[in-house]
Amino acid sequence: MDVVTDIQSLQSKVSQWIQEGKSIGFVPTMGYLHEGHVRLMEAAREENDIVILSIFVNPLQFGENEDLDHYPRDEEHDRKTAEQNGVDLVFFPSEDVMYPEPMSMQISVVRRADVLCGRSRPGHFEGVVTVLTKLFNLCRPTRAYFGMKDAQQAAVVDALINDFNFPMTLVPVETVREADGLAKSSRNVNLSDEERMEAPALQEALQYGRKLVEEGEKNPDQLIKTTRKFLENKTRGKIDYIELLSYPSLEPLTTIDQQAILAVAVFYDKARLIDNVVFGKQGELIKG
Ligand code: AMP
Repeated sequence: MDVVTDIQSLQSKVSQWIQEGKSIGFVPTMGYLHEGHVRLMEAAREENDIVILSIFVNPLQFGENEDLDHYPRDEEHDRKTAEQNGVDLVFFPSEDVMYPEPMSMQISVVRRADVLCGRSRPGHFEGVVTVLTKLFNLCRPTRAYFGMKDAQQAAVVDALINDFNFPMTLVPVETVREADGLAKSSRNVNLSDEERMEAPALQEALQYGRKLVEEGEKNPDQLIKTTRKFLENKTRGKIDYIELLSYPSLEPLTTIDQQAILAVAVFYDKARLIDNVVFGKQGELIKG
């Protein structure tokens, strides 16, 4: 496995692979790898000749009062995990390598981003699509793998790929969870013991909401109200949002008559957790 920290070495490896006609699976991450990331690597390994993993905590996608400084890092563990999962190349750039000088260009995300995390984290998705545009151009993937834990991100990146005609496909991958239902996240290490005990409530609430739809609930406002109450009773975390929208277009719904996402974000002391469930108009679970 190669570990590459500079642009030139990455580009020369990638050009060689492209010349040889190899397909490239790309898994972009911010590191501190867990089983969620491993599932993306496994999917990439199965479907491509070459797997590239990037590890970069992208400052552009963090707001001023967010957890950039507390974001967990473990280079040695990440290297081992990548190696054990058949990654061919890890791209591990520094901030100076990615942004040697302030960018002259800015991409604005004008749809799919004024809701959910896009509304709570202004500028977040601009940061995400900026770094991904660079990474896609550098890695020239055939397929890029994204977790449905960040379902809004998958929807925004899919739009990026379509709008700018990147010659690649986004592959969504189902959320990997702890035994008690909590979505695996690098940020879970920043939960206190008590918060960790309460955190499975996010997924419980979402499944509770989905079941209401299965039982016939069609009214989004009613659904949100009942789900919010359920969640408030189960955790002292502060709810940032609970929203129901169409998926993947992320438009408001007046009635639940199409594929939808019920998504939640909760602030704990040192971590903000997100989770979601995507379901059809009868409340049936939709995976990936
Ligand atoms: P991150 O390192 O948190 O930026 O995540 C990198 C990629 O891994 C993103 O596509 C995430 O959606 C995905 N990911 C993170 N957590 C999970 C999880 N629990 N299950 C599946 N994919 C995940």
